[in-house]
Amino acid sequence: MRNKVVEVLSALTSSMQEVTTDILVLEFTVVNAIIIGMPGAKTGKWILIDTGLESSAEFILDVAEQRFGEGSHPQAIILTHGHFDHVGSVIKLSEIWDVPVYAHQLEMPYLTGKKDYPLADSSVDEGLVAKMSPTFPHTSIDIGIRAVPLPSGGHIPGMTDWRWIPTPGHTEGHISLYRENDRTLIVGDAFTTVKQESLLSMITQKENISGPPKYLTTDWKVAEESVNTLRDLQPSLIIPSHGQPMQGEELTRHLEMLVEHFDEIAVPEQGRFVDNPID
Ligand SMILES: [Zn+2]
Ligand SMILES: [Zn+2]
Repeated sequence: MRNKVVEVLSALTSSMQEVTTDILVLEFTVVNAIIIGMPGAKTGKWILIDTGLESSAEFILDVAEQRFGEGSHPQAIILTHGHFDHVGSVIKLSEIWDVPVYAHQLEMPYLTGKKDYPLADSSVDEGLVAKMSPTFPHTSIDIGIRAVPLPSGGHIPGMTDWRWIPTPGHTEGHISLYRENDRTLIVGDAFTTVKQESLLSMITQKENISGPPKYLTTDWKVAEESVNTLRDLQPSLIIPSHGQPMQGEELTRHLEMLVEHFDEIAVPEQGRFVDNPID
């Protein structure tokens, strides 16, 4: 079965959604990527966050061309973390555009062929995606010298309004991105607004705040602290990697609920990483 099911699904529908004038969410059915930059921005004046699946590259290139003009390339690609559904097109795109790929220092080994993620844990949920998850690619990719650690202190090269925030737990070096002036938060996989373990809820995208994808999250205690950190920012708009953006009162209510009931909503009842967090 490999990850062909995911590939086929993602090929069926790629769509996009402009959530603010300068933020475009690219939706690949099972995962999102994000473009930040005003339409018509000059080459090097926009950013791509995450890169979808391997099959997403063409769509991303088309959208970039429509939005910024032929031959335009971003300042950089930023990865929230190195899971396969976020780095799928990163090799191809970083080569075509010849741009650096920033991620947290702790994700570097997974982007430079030095360390593999653990196999996903299918025992966390009965959903079809959870059951398929051990067939997902978990071995590291190698983008060599293009992989650059984010500078410490939250600064993001080329994004003066934004800062990165460490939100580990889902992976060691997972990050989220925050823009203070309109309290926009790109959460990555720190939490989702869809039950990522179930194929049906991924397709229907029924809004339903949830914790990080269960089958791949390795440290639940730290993941909970990260959700608390993000709640404390009091975001007015969040864009998750899995599920639909959420804003306003609905967001506040859902996020509060996730913080209050993290154990019940997010943490699986059993699983390899629940009792034995990986360092
Ligand atoms: Zn992930
Ligand atoms: Zn993900």
